[in-house]
Amino acid sequence: MLRGAKALASLNNRTYDDLLPMLAANGLQNELHCKGALSVYETERAFQADAGTWDLRRLHGITCDDLSGDQAREMEPALGPIVRRAVATPQWSHVSDPRTLHSALLTSLRQRGLTVIRGSAVGLTPTESAVTVDTSDAGPLAAEDVVIAAGAWSGFLAATIGDRVLLESERGYNTTIAAPGIQLGREIIFAERQFVATPLSCGLRIGGAAEFGGLDAKPNFKRSNALVSLARRYFPDLVETHGTMWSGHRPATPDSLPVIGRSSRNRRVIHAFGHGHLGLTQAATTGRLVADLIDGATPVVDLLPFSVDRF
Ligand SMILES: Cc1cc2nc3c(=O)[nH]c(=O)nc-3n(C[C@H](O)[C@H](O)[C@H](O)COP(=O)(O)OP(=O)(O)OC[C@H]3O[C@@H](n4cnc5c(N)ncnc54)[C@H](O)[C@@H]3O)c2cc1C
Repeated sequence: MLRGAKALASLNNRTYDDLLPMLAANGLQNELHCKGALSVYETERAFQADAGTWDLRRLHGITCDDLSGDQAREMEPALGPIVRRAVATPQWSHVSDPRTLHSALLTSLRQRGLTVIRGSAVGLTPTESAVTVDTSDAGPLAAEDVVIAAGAWSGFLAATIGDRVLLESERGYNTTIAAPGIQLGREIIFAERQFVATPLSCGLRIGGAAEFGGLDAKPNFKRSNALVSLARRYFPDLVETHGTMWSGHRPATPDSLPVIGRSSRNRRVIHAFGHGHLGLTQAATTGRLVADLIDGATPVVDLLPFSVDRF
């Protein structure tokens, strides 16, 4: 666990070093809100039980301030009396809206000369001087370097060049309520119940859950509803109506570390997937590391813990 935490910190401690310049280069700096986050607890017992985890985070440079329930309500008046303890993490940030950030980034990159070809990759075929990405709908695409970054779907692509990957879909759910009737200044994490509420530009997003049902199972949106009902326990004035439900596949590895680095089976193939719950947080740093590899530079983070060969 300590080794895993150290490896995770080596990526997460670079988040702002890589994310802020990337957002600025694309004119998107206003999409990130450095407002911190608040993890809240219903019982002193659960708060004490998590003390070791918070100490581990402090050890890796994360500021964590212990608070009483009243101090938490001073910061976030929408919280009800159920909250007895809290931990503030002022370095935490959230984005305005992941969807608008994604499309704004794509538009900016296109304007800067990026060519986007849409298609479904079905496998990789190495040739002497390149790797061909075989697709079902966009023809074969040959390149000197190929990056596998297909989230929870990446395992079968890696397998086509002989890399064995332990990767599962850990499905998550959320509901976004456009007019929730309450205001939050920052993300709230409900520590005992493992879900979060985030104030986005499109509304209050209440999300979480970890469902291991594979990539083909139909979503069970009862989970989205259940999270909203739970949120009512913490926010007595929450208006639950007109929520938009969504689910997505988190790419989970057994050690909670992503797979980043060149394949030892074919040096032209670079893996960049398996980011679990932190794909948005670690995206810019992963992009930076992939760029280092393609440029032939020494990666800014030691990539050994993230090697595909660990499986
Ligand atoms: C409910 C929920 C909450 C989350 N909250 C957070 C959070 O708070 N913070 C955070 O940092 N992250 C969060 N995430 C992000 C997340 O956990 C993942 O780590 C992230 O989405 C992984 O990004 P990715 O680009 O690797 O994969 P994805 O986002 O899954 O993107 C993979 C892409 O590859 C495409 N693809 C798949 N197969 C193929 C193929 N064969 N050919 C071509 N294209 C293909 C897919 O269509 C998709 O567009 C959350 C996710 C969920 C579901």
